[in-house]
Amino acid sequence: MSLSTAAQSLTWTYVDGDWHEGNVALIGPRSHAMWLGSSVFDGARWFENVSPDLDLHCERVNRSATALGLGPSKTAEEIVGLTLDGLKKFDGKTAVYIRPMYWAEHGGYMGVPADPDSTRFCLCLYESPMIASSGFSVTVSPFRRPTIETMPTNAKAGCLYPNNGRAILEAKSRGFDNALVLDMLGNVAETGSSNIFMVKDGVAFTPAANGTFLSGITRARTISLLAEGGIRTVEKALTVRDFMDADEIFSTGNHSKVVPVTRIEDRHLQAGPVAKKARELYWDFAHSG
Ligand code: PMP
Repeated sequence: MSLSTAAQSLTWTYVDGDWHEGNVALIGPRSHAMWLGSSVFDGARWFENVSPDLDLHCERVNRSATALGLGPSKTAEEIVGLTLDGLKKFDGKTAVYIRPMYWAEHGGYMGVPADPDSTRFCLCLYESPMIASSGFSVTVSPFRRPTIETMPTNAKAGCLYPNNGRAILEAKSRGFDNALVLDMLGNVAETGSSNIFMVKDGVAFTPAANGTFLSGITRARTISLLAEGGIRTVEKALTVRDFMDADEIFSTGNHSKVVPVTRIEDRHLQAGPVAKKARELYWDFAHSG
């Protein structure tokens, strides 16, 4: 493997008081995060001159750090301020992914849990164009979301993502773009990278937050925007059968905001009116602040 950073898009990272260009090396073989996976992150977006809900993403990374036994060292306001500072290094046109992170350098008691006093922070910003909203396909994954008893699902932690990664790869191996991942009770939880909604008879539905999946910031924003737009969202346990019978399916997540699902298993769907409206409402909201 090459150590070249040429294949990476323009990247700026703030760490220890300075900005560095490129994929700056931050952890070593003795770093607890590299060894035992003690890292948390959040993902926000800058596009078309706006960063919707940036404050909420910065607040969540601090909550994730605390949940994983790390000691967050920045306030959400400080992270927002650093982001606005770092964004000046970009061309003001290309969309940017905003990724604050905390990780532990050392282990604490017995070396296994993180030593919160060794927590480090970085803020990584990089060019990442928004994708078209043309839609994607999903298939039910053989892999499941863990519960809070088995994994730190109350944190947006890097250690949760190998499970998502294998679900996405397995779906891809069967010709689908993404996985529809169930919880341990067999109800629909989310995709491998976003939250999921369905629409039946003009009413939107989304799995009720039950601690197994990331109840996303874009999910909550979409529910409230739809409500203001006159469309009710019911949060409840939903089965694969509910999704197979849905009039529309769409996903929400900070990376691509609101995107329709155009195929579930062997069933093709149109990008429907509620998904379209949710996406328009999101863009109006993003530009209103
Ligand atoms: N679920 C997973 C697994 C995700 O990675 C994401 C994206 N962060 C989401 C849901 C959506 O969360 P949010 O809207 O807060 O970005």
